[in-house]
This record gives sequence, structure tokens and C-alpha cells, in this order.
Amino acid sequence: MSGNSTRLQAIYNVEAYVPPTVSFVAGEEPGEIFGSNVFTKAEMQARLPKAVFKSIVATIEKGIKLDPAVADAVAVAMKDWALEKGATHYAHVFYPMTGLTAEKHDSFLDPVGDGTTLAEFAGKTLIQGEPDASSFPSGGLRSTFEARGYTGWDATSPAYILENPNGNTLCIPTVFVSMTGEALDYKTPLLRSQQAMGVHAERVLKLFGHKDLNHVVSFCGPEQEYFLIDRHFFLARPDLINSGRTLFGAKPPKGQEFDDHYFGSIPERVLGFMMDTERELFKLGIPAKTRHNEVAPGQFELAPMFERANIASDHQQLTMTIFKSIAKKHGMECLFHEKPFAGVNGSGKHVNFSLGNAELGSLLVPGDTPHENAQFLVFCAAVIRAVHKFSGLLRVSVASATNDHRLGANEAPPAIISIFLGEQLADVFEQIAKGAATSSKGKGTMMIGVDTLPHLPTDPGDRNRTSPFAFTGNRFEFRAPGSLQTIAVPLVVINTIMADSLDYLATKLEKAVGDGEDFDKAVQTLLTEVITEHGDIVYNGDGYSEKWQIEAKERGLLNLKNTLDSVGQLITPEAVELFEKYSVFNERELHSRYEVQLEHYALVIAVEAKQSLELAETVILPAAVRYQTELAQNVATLKAAGVDASTLALETVSGPVSELTSAIGTLKKALSHHAGDTALAEAKHAQDELLPAMAAVRAPADTLESVVADDLWPLPTYQEMLYIL
Ligand code: ADP
Ligand code: MG
Repeated sequence: MSGNSTRLQAIYNVEAYVPPTVSFVAGEEPGEIFGSNVFTKAEMQARLPKAVFKSIVATIEKGIKLDPAVADAVAVAMKDWALEKGATHYAHVFYPMTGLTAEKHDSFLDPVGDGTTLAEFAGKTLIQGEPDASSFPSGGLRSTFEARGYTGWDATSPAYILENPNGNTLCIPTVFVSMTGEALDYKTPLLRSQQAMGVHAERVLKLFGHKDLNHVVSFCGPEQEYFLIDRHFFLARPDLINSGRTLFGAKPPKGQEFDDHYFGSIPERVLGFMMDTERELFKLGIPAKTRHNEVAPGQFELAPMFERANIASDHQQLTMTIFKSIAKKHGMECLFHEKPFAGVNGSGKHVNFSLGNAELGSLLVPGDTPHENAQFLVFCAAVIRAVHKFSGLLRVSVASATNDHRLGANEAPPAIISIFLGEQLADVFEQIAKGAATSSKGKGTMMIGVDTLPHLPTDPGDRNRTSPFAFTGNRFEFRAPGSLQTIAVPLVVINTIMADSLDYLATKLEKAVGDGEDFDKAVQTLLTEVITEHGDIVYNGDGYSEKWQIEAKERGLLNLKNTLDSVGQLITPEAVELFEKYSVFNERELHSRYEVQLEHYALVIAVEAKQSLELAETVILPAAVRYQTELAQNVATLKAAGVDASTLALETVSGPVSELTSAIGTLKKALSHHAGDTALAEAKHAQDELLPAMAAVRAPADTLESVVADDLWPLPTYQEMLYIL
């Protein structure tokens, strides 16, 4: 194919495309299929002896140690269930530090002689797997240990069936650790951090008189933004295929200026995709709830109901996998990159966080009774202290080469971490800072004495889309995570820094009570202390403004603009002390994560740089040169015919062509430089040499897109990709 034929072909295909119809068949209505492919508690109850069932539920819900004898019984029941569901294979599913989902499949059937027998699937097969760890990043953990890695059954996350036209697979969620028990995945630290936070949250609750508590866990509802484009265009864009974002492309004449996409009516084809994905998600017990258009053309969002953070995290990974495969079925490609199109809003993943348990619900709900309001304020103060003290860790938990394009670009929160409390709650804390809160803006009287606290407004103020960490009525919403990343990383940080704050508050209050102080007064004093020391993290203004950059600096808040500015936060002495204290990471594990983050950063940019070079050299430059030749021939022909020939058009093309040629040379050179011997040196080379060289190639290439004859331009344009669906 030559010239623009690839593009035209794609447009014809899009026009001719008939979306598959999706209809719920009888007996498969959403309500009925929910969880039908999940080995649920109900399923276990029906299949397991009573004692075994009780024991496994105690492990799942109360964190009681798993009894190996129980595993055998569960394995048998699970296998029977899976075979009834048509499973031919089983897989231990884990989340290595690539940020992706990994699976190792084994057959339920063993070939013997001229037939097959049912393979053994005993407790030990369920509990432990042994994939080769050497192909997964370990950030140096492996160089001192064997390549061996182990997957271990995570009983707290239910097993499920993944359907495939060629046979179903029983998927068993697991953790992935080295021989010495060091974490090689994201699940292990998530479970550790959840456990640590629970312990200290329960101490606080005990002080407020709660007895016989169910385990306190963190809850998370992750909102996912994504783009959909027609697959024909996708396949004609090697940059999207290899890097997930367009490395070239002029801005379309019509961008998002009309604000006509957000909450607009959903295109029929996209609606079909959404219905189909929701059906699959329901079967897997994933509570997809809200769906709507997002700000940019071609951009959409899914918000599931919140769940325990560890399950939400598994479900979130699964959701991304399902989205990718269902989009294909509907002739589209789902883009999760944070910034697939320059100059158009990018995508994030909002991590809505709260903590609580089944009886108490979210502990971040401003309750009805005064008693609970004081409790709410203590948990709220814990968040304020945690975010202020460890804002650098929150920042690094969302740092990546891809999210760098989005954070701080005035479309997502700035790189400065701050908290939005809403007007009324902020006012309450301002009063607490002065001693006692005696009034609440606009709504009645607010006192902080435990017995006398009046109702807190349940909707404590407006929304603030510019804040990275916003209180939204019954939870905090961390808005900085990228759309591509696993939510496990920010959740590990949030859980751990909350463990630290709750530990601190509980210790102080326990001591006060032990010393015979009045509990109400002790709470009041403590709240005043926390807000005085940590109130600087609260900011209700416009996070996008220039003013905030200056003010934040005066307040001494961190402003870590990009990944390389942030990544050192992972290994500061304070970070090491924190994570070791709560047994979430030891120092070696932290260093390994630091290495992996740098390696990944360098790798992403190196791939982009190579892809830029290839596209510029073999696709864009040839198209431009062809056009340049055509124009030159035209000038020559006119001159020969004795006609006055303007060289203006030729110059308009020749300028950027020579710029592009020289920029290509520079990029080539940058790519050939030795990047250095450490992960940090490689990452620095990527940031300081490759990124600017790529930008220099892109600028003239994008200029050429608007001057080269359309019938010669090979790459689908922004206009086509974003609007033809
Ligand atoms: P909004 O527009 O306010 O962000 P959405 O409906 O788009 O609302 O998303 C709200 C998200 O917050 C959902 O994923 C929901 O599950 C989650 N959420 C709601 N309450 C809580 C809570 N208490 N803890 C954690 N997440 C929550
Ligand atoms: Mg939201």
C-alpha cells in the first residue's frame, strides 16, 4: 500500500462495519449471571463440610491462618466446580512487577498411554505453584537468590473461570514471592499493608468503645478512564501498537473545545461494547456500575462499586484484560495509556479509598450521632497526617514515564500532593486548629466535645477536580494514579501511611486514657495538634493555578514534577523505616522496587525513541520527500514553460524536511549513546537525551502533516482516529 491508501481503507472498513449485536439471553440477565463464574462463598458452603467451610471463611474474613488440611478439601470442591463449568485447565494468576497480569496454565488432564486421566489437583497444587521467576523483573532481588519463584494461593480473593471458545480456565489468584519470601509482585505488599492498617484501625475503634470487631479493611472503588478507537486505524499506527500512544500527530481542527463529549450520549457502537463488557464483568462478580463519556472525544469511563481493596485490585486488572479483548470483538481497540493523543485530555484512574468493615461501613462517613462524628474526625485527621507526612510516597506511587505526560498538565492534578476537604469540613478543622470547633458554616452549631458534637453536614462542600486527594462525602479520592497502572501500588502506600497515622493516634489516646485523662478532652487536644502540624497539606483552591505552585513552595510541600524527581522517595530513610516498621517491605524489597521503576521508565522511553526514529525515517520523511519532489518538479516544469513559478509551497515543505532530517540524525545519535551502567543512569539518559530528541523529531513531522498533500499522508490523523467510530 502506498500514500494514503491505508488510511482510506481504514475509513471504508469503519463505514462498512456492522457491530455484533449483544443481547442478554433468557436466564442470563445481569442479576442472574452475577458471579456465575466465581467460586463464591455460597458455592463453597454448598460443597464443603461445615467445619471446613467455617475455617476457610475465618481465613478470608478474619485473617486467621490458613489450615493446610482445609486446602485439600477446598481443592477438591474447587476442581469439581471448575470441571462442571467446562474448565480444561487451571492457572495460578499473579501480578509481577511488570504491572501486568501473569498466568501459568496447567491442564486438568494428564496424558497416559493412549488416553488421558484426570490430573491430581490436591491442596498442595492449590496452595503453591512454581513458575520460573527469571523472566519477571526483580530489581536485583534475584541476583543474590535463585531464579525460583513461588505463587501462593490468596484465599481472600475468590477463584474464577475465564471463558474461551476453546476451553475454559480455572483462575486462582495468588501472590508471587522469591524463595526467601521476598515479594516479587504487587499483591503481597497489598495484603501485608492491609493487615497492618487493620490492626491499628481496630485499636482506634476499641478506644471509641467498639467490641468484638470484624476485621477492618480498606475499600476501593477505582474509576477507569479509557479511549476507544476503530481497530483499523489502530493497526495503521505502529506507535499506538508499540507504545500505546501516538508519537506523531497534528492537533485536529476540532478538539475538545466544545465540551460536547462529557456525559454526552454514548455512541451506539460503544454502548454495545459497554453492554458486552458488563456482561462479562458481571459473570466474574465484578460490580461494574457507572458508565459515561469522558471529556475528550473517544474517551469513556467505567466506575465499579467499591470492594475490599485487595479484591478491587484483582478485579481492576481483570477489567482491563476484559476491556481489551471485548473491544477487539467489536472492531475497536481500547487504549489505557495516560496520554494517547497529545493536546487532548488524557486518562487517569481515580482510586477512591475508605476503610471500614461490614458492620460499620465506611469509617469516613460523617455519622449521625455526635459520638461517631468524633470518631470520624479522628479517622479524617489520620488521613491528613498521613498524606502530609508521606506525600512523597503518594507521589512516587503514581510516577511513570506514561503518567508524566498527564500530571501537572492542567488536565489532571498537579504534581503537588494536597488534600481537598470541602468548605465545611475545612472550616471545622480550621476551628479545631484554634482549639475547639463551635460552629459549622451554614449548618447549625458544631462542637467538638464528643458527647455534644452536632451533626456534620453529610455533603461537606463542592467538588474540586483540580485536587489530587479530595474528600468526597464518604471517602477520599486519589485522582493522580494513571489509567495504565495497577491500583495496588497507590493502595499499598495509602494503607501503610494510614497504619502509621492510626498507630500514632491510637498510642497517644491509649496513653491518655491510661493516665486517667478525660477521653473527650484527649481527642480534642490530639485533633488540634494534628491539624496544627499537618494542616498545610489542606488546600481547597485551584490546583491548576500558578499561585498554588508558589504557595505550596512557601508551605514547604513537595513539587516533584516527574518520575525521576520522585523515584528517590521510595528509598529515603523515612520510607525504609515506615515500610519496615509495618512489615510491608524490607529495605531490599524497597530497593528492588526502586530499580524496577527506573528500569521500566528507561525501557518505555527507549521503545518510544526507537519507534519515533523508525516512523520518522521510513514513513513520514519519505512521504514528505515525495511531495517535495512533486513540488520541485512543478516549479521546474513551470519555469521551463516560461511561466512565473512561485517557490513558496516548496519552501514550506523544504524547511521542515531539512529540520526533520537533522532531528533524525540527533535522535539516532542519542540512541547510539551508551546509556550508562545503572538503572538510574539509563533512566537519566532517557529523560535528558531521548525525550528531547524525540520532541525535536516530532515538531517538524507534525508541521509536515499539515502541509503535505493529503493523498500522500500515510498515518491516520487525530481527526480520523478520534471522530470516526
Ligand atoms: P464521582 O463522579 O463522584 O467520582 P463515580 O460514580 O464516577 O462518582 O465514582 C465513584 C466511585 O467511588 C465508585 O467507583 C465507587 O465505588 C467509589 N466509592 C463510593 N463510595 C466509596 C467508599 N466508601 N470507599 C471507596 N470507594 C467508594
Ligand atoms: Mg470520581
